[in-house]
Amino acid sequence: MSRAFNFSAGPAMLPAEVLEQAREEMLDWHGSGMSVMEMSHRGKQFMSIAEQAEADLRELMKIPAEYKVLFLQGGASIQFAMVPLNLLGGKSNADYFNTGSWSKKAIAEAKKFCEVDLVASSEADKFTSVPLQSEWQLNPDAAYVHYTPNETIGGVEFPSIPDVGDVPLVADMSSTILSRPIDVSKFGVIYAGAQKNIGPAGLTVVIVREDLIGGAAPGTPAMLDYRTHAESGSMYNTPPTYSWYLAGLVFQWLKRNGGLEAAAERNKRKAEMLYAAIDQSVFYANPVDHSCRSWMNVPFTLANPGLDKTFLAEADAMQLVTLKGHRSVGGMRASIYNAMPEEGVKALIGFMLGFEKRYA
Ligand SMILES: *Cc1c(COP(=O)(O)O)cnc(C)c1O
Repeated sequence: MSRAFNFSAGPAMLPAEVLEQAREEMLDWHGSGMSVMEMSHRGKQFMSIAEQAEADLRELMKIPAEYKVLFLQGGASIQFAMVPLNLLGGKSNADYFNTGSWSKKAIAEAKKFCEVDLVASSEADKFTSVPLQSEWQLNPDAAYVHYTPNETIGGVEFPSIPDVGDVPLVADMSSTILSRPIDVSKFGVIYAGAQKNIGPAGLTVVIVREDLIGGAAPGTPAMLDYRTHAESGSMYNTPPTYSWYLAGLVFQWLKRNGGLEAAAERNKRKAEMLYAAIDQSVFYANPVDHSCRSWMNVPFTLANPGLDKTFLAEADAMQLVTLKGHRSVGGMRASIYNAMPEEGVKALIGFMLGFEKRYA
C-alpha cells in the first residue's frame, strides 16, 4: 500500500492512524457485532460515541459550558442561511467582512434575509490582505458580525480575532478550526464543514452560545433552527453517524498528540517552511501579505504558467497530489491541514526545488 501526500483543500487528508483504527473497527465496533454505520443513532452504543466526540472536542477547544456543540448536515454552506435565520432576532442589518470567495458566498446568502453592511473589504487588492482595523466600519446595532478567519481559496488568514465589541461575532472556521488554540468565549457562533480539518464530508460542527438559540425568525424550518438541534442533542433526525464517529477518532488523535498547542506548533513550522521555500525562489510566488498568510492553504504560482500542467503531472507521479489551484485563481494550492505530515511538506519543497532547477 502506498499513501499519497494529498494537498486537497477538502475533502482533505485524514491521519493514517485514524483510518487504520476505523478499518479495525469497520465490521465489529467494540464487540457490538456491527459497524458504526449500521447502528441506530439512538442506541446506547452510538450515543456513547457521540458523547465522547463532543466531550473530546470541548476539551480540545476549551469550549465554555454556556455553548452548545451541534453536529449537523448541510455543510458550512447551509450556515450561510442558518446564521441570519437564527441571529437576526428582528433586526434588519448584519455586518460582514469581505475577504474572499467564501465571504462573498456568505454575504450573497445573507442578503436574502437582511441588509448586509460591509465592515471592510479587501476586494480592491484582489483579496491578498486583511483590512486594517483602522478601516473597519462596525455598526453597533448590527445583529451580528460575520467573518471568515481563513479564506481557503485565497490563502488569507486573520492574524487575530477581530474585536467587535458586544455584537455577537460569527466565524466560518471551516478551514482553520483545530489548527491552533482559540478563545471560544470571543464568539457567538463558530461553524465549520468537517471535511478540511475535522473528519469526512457530511458533517458540520456548530458551536453556538446558548443565549443566541431560540430566537429564529418566524417561519424558520425546524431543520434550520438551532433550537431544534440543541434541544435534541443533534438527534432531531438521523445525524451523519459515521462522519461523527470518524471526527471523534480525529479528536482523540489530536489529544494523543499534544492537543491544539502542539498542533499549532506543527502547523506553524510546516507553513513557515513552505513560505520560506517560495520566497527564496524567483520561480515561485505567493501574493498574500506576509501578516496574514494562511497556515492551512498556501496558493502559489509558477513564473511561467505554461509549465503548470507539467508541474502537476510530475508532482502527481511523485504522489504529491491535488496541487492544482482553485479555478478562480489558477496556479497551485497546497492545503496543509493538521493531517498533512511534516514529511509531506518537505517532500513538496524538495520536488519544487528540483522542478525549478530542471525548468527555470
Ligand atoms: C469549504 C468551505 C466552505 C464550504 O463548505 P461546505 O461544507 O462544502 O458547504 C465554506 N467556507 C469555507 C471557509 C470553506 O473552506
